Amino acid sequence: MTEEGFIVLVTDKVSAAGLEPFGTDDRFEIIQVDDSSSPEFEEALGRAHGLVVRSATKVRGNLLAKAPNLRVVGRAGVGVDNIDLDAATARGVAVLNAPAGNTVSAAELTLALMMALVRQVAEADASVRRGEWKRSKFQGVELRGRTLGLIGAGRIGGTVAKRCKAFRMRVLAYDPYLTDERAHDLGVERAELDTVIESADVLSLHVPLTDSTRNLIDADALSRMKKGAYIVNVARGGVVDEAALAAALASGHIAGAALDVYGNEPLEAESPLRTAPNTVLTPHLGASTAEAQELVATEIAEAVRDALSKGDLSRALNAPAIGSETLRALGPLFGLGRQLGFLGCALAPGGLLEVEIRYAGGSDEALRPLTNYVLVGLLENILGRDQVNFVSAGHLAKQRGIGVSRTTLSRHANYTEYVEVAIKAERGELKLAGALLGDAHPRVVRIADYHVDVVPEGTLIVLKNDDVPGVIGRVGTILGEHGINIAGYHQARLAKGGDALAAVVVDSDVSQEVRDALLELDEVTSAVVVALG
Ligand code: NAD
Repeated sequence: MTEEGFIVLVTDKVSAAGLEPFGTDDRFEIIQVDDSSSPEFEEALGRAHGLVVRSATKVRGNLLAKAPNLRVVGRAGVGVDNIDLDAATARGVAVLNAPAGNTVSAAELTLALMMALVRQVAEADASVRRGEWKRSKFQGVELRGRTLGLIGAGRIGGTVAKRCKAFRMRVLAYDPYLTDERAHDLGVERAELDTVIESADVLSLHVPLTDSTRNLIDADALSRMKKGAYIVNVARGGVVDEAALAAALASGHIAGAALDVYGNEPLEAESPLRTAPNTVLTPHLGASTAEAQELVATEIAEAVRDALSKGDLSRALNAPAIGSETLRALGPLFGLGRQLGFLGCALAPGGLLEVEIRYAGGSDEALRPLTNYVLVGLLENILGRDQVNFVSAGHLAKQRGIGVSRTTLSRHANYTEYVEVAIKAERGELKLAGALLGDAHPRVVRIADYHVDVVPEGTLIVLKNDDVPGVIGRVGTILGEHGINIAGYHQARLAKGGDALAAVVVDSDVSQEVRDALLELDEVTSAVVVALG
């Protein structure tokens, strides 16, 4: 191998046909050893610059320690639970994944499960095998004319939507980041979460697991579903409360559920889902097709090839450390940028179209990395925290069609370090601004047209309300009644007696019930809760 050459070790039976991208570049030598516990694997690991795995090989500190030349680990698939991202980052090893290649396979499994449910295929099959012939017991329903409630309309959700349209279903989708244009292209109707839950004959979940999707389908959501509705989950286990689902199936309120993913995998032997009626359970098979395995292998081979030969880390999941000096100096600014992005994602009116990051401060080099930190904040609740970082954020924003621009502002009159985030979303624009006080203490100083002074930590409730006497007291009472301690209350208004904005920082989580109670106050017109962490 010459100085220019790269050795890539491929294991876990990654599809050989998918490794074509390496084959066309003679700088690459590919070594395939399927058993990562074998001596051949260890020998090759000592020489490898790249390692490609599926989920069997555990890439932890002990493995990395035996790979002194390793620069890139590629996961042929989405989940990186088998890879220790921190240990890889600490050794300067980039970790890449292949999120797109299994889209059609996961969508087709969703359809397979949906149809199995409404025609009780699994139970009918078991009954025939027992020697029975109960035709009237297994009368099903058609999908035609029924409403599919889609939660998450990204790659897989969108692909499911198109197929369900072909079955003549009506598709209602809830995805706060879905633009009108994409909804139109997919032929789906956009709707609020509650409407989707309450209208669905079949509810299908296609969201990442994030703070806002964990237990999204809990006992309350299940009780609001139509009696006799069905649920399909091919996304991530934590999105559905499994105990509540088992209870809803047992009571007959939910007619059937099909699950490919679980809170704990493998599913516990004693899980009540195993004995729940009309339930189809598959062991995380969404990506288990020959085609998906080949596609993810091709996708990861291209990513590993470009990372090694061109230094392209735009698809890396772990951020190679920024120099510690830079981070020490600019860390608070980057943290503020990320918080503003996070807040922007929560408050933006509709799907994101464009974002401009404007900076006035002491460092000429700050704006470019600052932009990426703002994008991390904007995207992490959309894509999942482990799927975006400051290296990949620009690439991911571009992929989602979000225009990004940067501007250097002249010095701000009041602050030495000042950041503005101007967002153009589908239903309007939003401007946020933040500043560092004493170069290290972040503050949000503007939300939309309102000047505020908020320390971005804990949970923030942003209320729009009429500027009338007594609102602060009534909000305080509701929070107090729910045992929520207020750390800071900032009321801002444009003109006396007009619209006002309250930014309330509280010490604990704020449930949907509390949010609903706040919205019931006559003066409150909107309430958004953001966990700033
Ligand atoms: P994606 O990123 O293309 O789409 C996810 C969509 O969810 C995005 O459009 C995003 O805007 C939306 N979203 C984010 N937060 C939301 C929220 N709170 N409410 C509603 N929508 C929200 O991802 P994808 O490739 O379509 O994958 C979807 C899910 O399927 C992921 O959880 C992924 O891990 C899972 N998956 C499972 C398998 C399997 O084997 N079962 C295979 C592949 C993917």
